Amino acid sequence: MGDPELTVIEDGDVRIVKIGPMGPYNNNAYIVRSLGSGDSLLVDMPLEEAPLLAAIAAEGGVRTIVATHWHQDHWLTYDAVRRATGAPVLVGSREVNIPEERIDGRLDDGAELRVGAARVTVMHTPGHTVGSISLRIGPAVITGDTLFDGGPGKTFAGGDLETILQSINARLLPMPDATAVLPGHGANTTIGASRRGYAEYGGHPKPAGYFGDVEWSRP
Ligand SMILES: [Zn+2]
Repeated sequence: MGDPELTVIEDGDVRIVKIGPMGPYNNNAYIVRSLGSGDSLLVDMPLEEAPLLAAIAAEGGVRTIVATHWHQDHWLTYDAVRRATGAPVLVGSREVNIPEERIDGRLDDGAELRVGAARVTVMHTPGHTVGSISLRIGPAVITGDTLFDGGPGKTFAGGDLETILQSINARLLPMPDATAVLPGHGANTTIGASRRGYAEYGGHPKPAGYFGDVEWSRP
């Protein structure tokens, strides 16, 4: 596999670096950095280790790590990342299935993390997992496996599709059209494109009780 693409969004003091897609599941990690203070926040710890550690070293200043949800593919470089940064690992307050010794703190809906002068707002966006979170930073939102380019994240039990669609509709889609959606896997999208896809999906929704994969068109 070649080197993953690095995508950079800069907005005032904030720089967001996307590391990915990479590894067998096309995962993405993100580093949110304050240019003024040099402090950084890392989001998720997926494969592959080499490009992720290179980006951590290049950006520097990782003081905090946030995992968007419990799924293993977002934690596969936990040991290496902890060795490299020594930073605490924070997860959503409702999340399950993570060994307690790996968790240094929990984040409630509405919590704010400071990265230099920037504020990162935590949103509880359940459905893919019970405690999945999204992180809003200025002109972007890191959505974990809640919202991808082309649809919601996979759901695993009856009722969960309705829950994830509610998370998307109530919490994510109200953001401005130009907001960059930075997902846990694959390509970026925008809130505007997601809103159009969501509306199109509403014309031919899955039957009640369906769960699994849903893809809407990319208008
Ligand atoms: Zn997942």
